[in-house]
Amino acid sequence: MTANITVLKHPLIEHKLAILRNRETDNKLFRSTLEELSYLLVYEITRDLPLQPVQINTPLAHCDAQQLAEPILLVPILRAGLGMVAGILDLIPSAKVGHVGVYRDEISLRPVEYYFRLPPDAATMRTFLLDPMLATGGSACDAVMFIKKRGVKNIKFVCIIASPEGIARLQKDHPDVSVYCAAVDERLNDHGYIVPGLGDAGDRLFGTR
Ligand code: URA
Repeated sequence: MTANITVLKHPLIEHKLAILRNRETDNKLFRSTLEELSYLLVYEITRDLPLQPVQINTPLAHCDAQQLAEPILLVPILRAGLGMVAGILDLIPSAKVGHVGVYRDEISLRPVEYYFRLPPDAATMRTFLLDPMLATGGSACDAVMFIKKRGVKNIKFVCIIASPEGIARLQKDHPDVSVYCAAVDERLNDHGYIVPGLGDAGDRLFGTR
């Protein structure tokens, strides 16, 4: 494993990952657990955020304090990435949220954005690109390419489960993008699903199957 992938280890992360993987977990519990797990991952990932000094008054005295120095941008990849947003916003309520939806045109095989919206100052922000599953790496690479085109430079890819194939592809195409996850699973199956994985994250989140 290269330096650009971080598997975050914590008993609560393991515990919640087991809930997400369990086929008996219903949509409601899946949704709330995905939010909680995203919160925990981002808590760990944000350890290196730069701070700037600020002077404030407590009810008792003047005080030197620290605040986040740079704005944060969350970009969920539609649709399963949406399930990670609320948990992270609980932790960083000042974050802005962009959205990216991509698919591959069946004839040309070129990536197409079917929905794309970023704040106008996105290029100045630290960006967390969100998708619970880094499977083939296709949509992750396409999403990174589209947001880089808008000038976004500082990108961390945050997922719950990654496949070795997805990590390799993202690192080959975008070596500057670090990947953070709760687990790297064994492999992809013939349908592009991660094994053992957790199934289709979007369907389990939204109850569409
Ligand atoms: N997307 C999912 O939701 N699950 C997988 O296993 C792979 C891609």
